[in-house]
Amino acid sequence: MYLYNSASHKKEEFVPNHPDVVKMYTCGPTVYHYAHIGNLRSYIMEDVLEKYLRFLGYNVKRVMNITDVGHLSSDADTGEDKMLKGAQREHKSVMEIAKFYTDAFFDDCRKLNIKRPDVVEPATNCIDEYIKIITKLMDTGYAYFAGGNVYFDTSKLKRYYIFNDHNEEDLAVGVREGVEEDTNKRNRNDFVLWFTKSKFEDQALKWDSPWGVGYPGWHIECSGISMKHLGEDLDIHCGGIDNAFPHHTNEIAQSESYLGHKWTNYWVHVAHLVGEHGKLSKSKMIASGEKMLNLALLEEKGYDPLAYRFFCLQAHYRKNLVFTWENLDNAQKAFEKLIAKIANLKPDDGAVDEAARKEYREKFISQMDNDINTPNGVTMLYDILKAQTNDATKRAMLADADTVLSLSLLEKADALREKNAKAALSGGAEFTVIAEDGAPDAAVEALIRARADAKKAKNFAEADRIRDELKAQGIELTDIPNGAKWKRV
Ligand code: AMP
Ligand code: ZN
Repeated sequence: MYLYNSASHKKEEFVPNHPDVVKMYTCGPTVYHYAHIGNLRSYIMEDVLEKYLRFLGYNVKRVMNITDVGHLSSDADTGEDKMLKGAQREHKSVMEIAKFYTDAFFDDCRKLNIKRPDVVEPATNCIDEYIKIITKLMDTGYAYFAGGNVYFDTSKLKRYYIFNDHNEEDLAVGVREGVEEDTNKRNRNDFVLWFTKSKFEDQALKWDSPWGVGYPGWHIECSGISMKHLGEDLDIHCGGIDNAFPHHTNEIAQSESYLGHKWTNYWVHVAHLVGEHGKLSKSKMIASGEKMLNLALLEEKGYDPLAYRFFCLQAHYRKNLVFTWENLDNAQKAFEKLIAKIANLKPDDGAVDEAARKEYREKFISQMDNDINTPNGVTMLYDILKAQTNDATKRAMLADADTVLSLSLLEKADALREKNAKAALSGGAEFTVIAEDGAPDAAVEALIRARADAKKAKNFAEADRIRDELKAQGIELTDIPNGAKWKRV
């Protein structure tokens, strides 16, 4: 498999460090509000990467943190504490909102078929790990104490910027508009490992440390948690592209200075979901007071969470993905059509042709091996439907691809087939409308129901008028027992 490594700026063949396990670490959510659908894009694509590694036969151990302390609103060391601000907003304790939004996050993951990582670790569980790392960094001169905080000294590194040839001016940390500069820092990019001076009198979570009572910085948590569960090296570290700087850059600085050797081999960054006004951002959404663009909103508007997953898979993870309701509509329609086509396959029409199945498995691998090319992986689903083989084999091929894509293809298709069969048989009370191409349309359905009502009331002129109106819209109607099927022609 070839993966694009942000640290080397090229696609590299994936070779794990250890024969028995692939060590994978993912930056988890900051649980001060719901995850928005941009956050969820990152988790969907990381889930595909993990599942694809498993599909190839690797044994993966994946660890994810839950950020419940230390993440300030600037991503560097200035601004407000996101968790504290969230707790104040909701008149709850930090721990209460952490629990609530952690549960909400995993609910979203479940609906999106995102597997729970093998280890999920809240940052507040690992204070001893951070203290151990910071102590060594102090002893070896990589860290210093100033103004009540412990800072990492970036001037001690031969190379600080890893992911880009950054322009220092563009990246000026701490001098962004509205954020005051921290005069304790010796160098502009130095970052806090341990805070004891908090501007918040009511900082809820504090721990004793050799440097005074305080709390860890955000970056140190990912180094500490990954070393606790995965040891001194990582195969793959992933996160959204905004994490590359400063978060991942700082993780590398402190981890490699602590360990004295290279830490992570492959850095995988998921590009952003962008809206009409640029990158979707949790803090901007909260500040705007508008409804959060999260999975609950998608469901409220009638979208299937897995249609959102399908939408994400149609784009390569390294390209920005533009979110509009129209784009999501199209994805949902395409997804429903795909399910309807799969529902037409007969489950038991003979034995599975294992040779043909293997051939498609290899084709799928050849697509996905190229830096997790999910758009081509999705196209393969349509190729499978057209394959010259029996339906049972097609279903087996789809099931293989779906162990990675996780769209519940066969489950959904089977449920639809059952629903359609029941509807076709039913002489029962309920009038059923079936969209034959699998893309329901509320307006069309309303007209069809109005026509049925008109017929019942023996108003045949009105019933014919509605049929003509549907015909004019290019819709062909077939009456079935106690219902109607329709399709666009
Ligand atoms: P947070 O909860 O803010 O710490 O972010 C959780 C994850 O979502 C991180 O990996 C971020 O890099 C990622 N992320 C944030 N915004 C977006 C976006 N608009 N599109 C994709 N991923 C994002
Ligand atoms: Zn992280």
